[in-house]
Amino acid sequence: MRGGRHVAAVSGASFDLAAGECLALVGESGCGKSVLASALLGLLPGNAQTAGTATVAGTELLGADEHTLALTVRGRLVGLVPQSPAAHLTPVRTVGAQIEETLRELTGLSRKAARSAAVAAAERAAFPADHLDRYPHELSGGLAQRAATALALIGDAPLLLADEPTTGLDRDLVNRTADELRRHTDDGRALLMITHDLAAAERIADRVAVMYAGRIVELTGARGFFGESGPRHPYARGLLNALPERDFTAVPGLPPELSDLPEGCAFAARCDRAGERCAVRPAFTDGVACHHPVTPAAARAASTKDVHRA
Ligand code: SF4
Repeated sequence: MRGGRHVAAVSGASFDLAAGECLALVGESGCGKSVLASALLGLLPGNAQTAGTATVAGTELLGADEHTLALTVRGRLVGLVPQSPAAHLTPVRTVGAQIEETLRELTGLSRKAARSAAVAAAERAAFPADHLDRYPHELSGGLAQRAATALALIGDAPLLLADEPTTGLDRDLVNRTADELRRHTDDGRALLMITHDLAAAERIADRVAVMYAGRIVELTGARGFFGESGPRHPYARGLLNALPERDFTAVPGLPPELSDLPEGCAFAARCDRAGERCAVRPAFTDGVACHHPVTPAAARAASTKDVHRA
């Protein structure tokens, strides 16, 4: 950044993802989720630096040149279901024209063949064929979402990356969108769903990764995370307890500036379990980065106590 300042937008993010599996990456806005997605697609700004490896179906993404990214990665190895699909679609072209162009580019179909293939591509994402001649501004939020999903599926990419796919949708539409994404995952794709919508994550995720201040602080199975034992990291527990259907209690304080992270645990100033050891940054061990994680037994006892109190 200007003045030689560095922002550690994402550090130490490590995970794998199998075909047919959905990993939800959750955390507050600004924690680094979308930066991680941009890094995978080679869409970071020119002054960003990346290190490490990110391999999809044998292709290394980090450090790949623009030619490789354009011709083999975007749309082909990694399909993007974007945030705000209405803004992602080209406003002056019909949905059908955009699907046809994507088909020609990604599958090499002729102009003539692309027309009938566009109907099939739309159907895969439950986009009605009789709406293909509509412009993006003529679509509801749900239909724009389906159009964007149809575009993301055309290249049959083994990894779908959905960046806040349910933002701005009402709950019914959130559920429908999440279910559709799950259906495409069950067809043999891997899905990385970046979201701050924990209800959507609970609906479809197999595993959950929680990000805080640029780091993954917990990575665990969705059943345990949302179930009786709950998460082990204090921040992850705070996120869940903030939901209206749970305690509806906000995590106190604000996240630190990514350009000015503390030496120790970045969550320490907001954490009611913080102790002396937390002045040293905790390593990510056994699925959690915390010196004093909640043990599953203690979590179960707490939730039983809550039930009795209720
Ligand atoms: S390392 Fe310490 S401050 Fe950080 S989350 Fe764990 S207990 Fe809280």
